[in-house]
Amino acid sequence: MKKRKWIMNKFALVVKQDDHSHHIAAKIKAALCEGGWTFDLEKAELIICVGGDGTILQAVHQYMDQLQDVQFLGVHTGTLGFLTDYTQNELEEVIQAILTTEPEVYESKLLEITAYGKEVKRYYALNEMRIENVIRTQILEISIDEEPFEICRGSGVCLSTQAGSTAYNRSLRGAVIDSGLSIMQLCEITGIQNSLHRSLNVPYIMTDTRTVAFRSHTFDEATLCYDHLHASLEGIKKVTCRMSNKKVIFSRYRPYSYLKRLKNLY
Ligand code: NAP
Repeated sequence: MKKRKWIMNKFALVVKQDDHSHHIAAKIKAALCEGGWTFDLEKAELIICVGGDGTILQAVHQYMDQLQDVQFLGVHTGTLGFLTDYTQNELEEVIQAILTTEPEVYESKLLEITAYGKEVKRYYALNEMRIENVIRTQILEISIDEEPFEICRGSGVCLSTQAGSTAYNRSLRGAVIDSGLSIMQLCEITGIQNSLHRSLNVPYIMTDTRTVAFRSHTFDEATLCYDHLHASLEGIKKVTCRMSNKKVIFSRYRPYSYLKRLKNLY
C-alpha cells in the first residue's frame, strides 16, 4: 500500500444498471456535491463504482485511456465484493471518508493481451483473459518465454491475475491468491486427459515477468474473453499475454481485509 499526495475533488459515477444501485448513486452524488466536490465525467479523479465487482470492471475499461489519472472506489449494493471496499449499509462512512480523508492507494496491474493476425490487436484485463471454444476441441500449443510448455486440448484456457483469482479462475479450481502478490495463473478449461494425451492438469502459477504464447492451427471458432468483454479470434495465428505496465489505482480509505472477503465466499 502506498501513500501518495493526490488531492481530489472531481468525481464520476459508474453505476450497475438496476434501480437500487441508481438510487444509492444519486445519494452519493448529492452528498459529495453538497460537500464541495464536482461531478465531472471527463475530468474525474475519483471514479465511484456503485454495484459490484463487475461494475468496477466496466469502469476500468471505460476509463482505460486515463488509468494513470484516476482512482477507483467501489460501493457494493449486494454483499461485499473483492474489488469494492464499502457496502450500501456504509454510505455515511464512505461519504465522510471521501470528504475528509486522503486515501492510501493500492495498485493492481493489468494483463496485456496481443492477438496476431493480418492486424495486431491489443486488449487489457484486470481479472483474466480466456481463449474459449464452445463449438469444438481447441488445440493450443502453449509456450512460456518462448519455451514449449504443453499442448492443451479442450474448451480452452484461462490466464488470471491475483485480482481475478476469485473470479472465473476459482470456478476452474484455480488457487485463490493473497492480496499483494503479482502473479499470473494458467488453468485449463475442461481439458481432455486420456492415454494418448496428457497435460499438467493442475493450475500453473508463474511470476509476472513471464510471457505466455498460445498458438493453434486455427482459432477460427474460438473467442477471446477479457474480463466482461470478448473479441473474435478469426484469422488469428498467435495470442500472447504478459503483465503490462498499465495498472488500476484503487483508493483505500480504511484497512482492507482480504480474509474477510474470502470468508464471505463460503
Ligand atoms: P458479471 O455479472 O459482471 O460478474 C459475474 C460474477 O463474477 C459476479 O458475481 C461478480 O461479482 C463476480 N466477480 C467479478 N469479478 C470478480 C472478482 N475479481 N472476484 C470475485 N468475483 C468477481 O459477469 P461478466 O460480465 O460475464 O464477467 C465479468 C467477470 O465475471 C469475468 O471477469 C469473470 O471472471 C467473472 N465470471 C465468472 C464466472 C464463473 O465463475 N463461472 C462466469 C462468468 C463470469 P459482483 O456481483 O460483485 O459484480
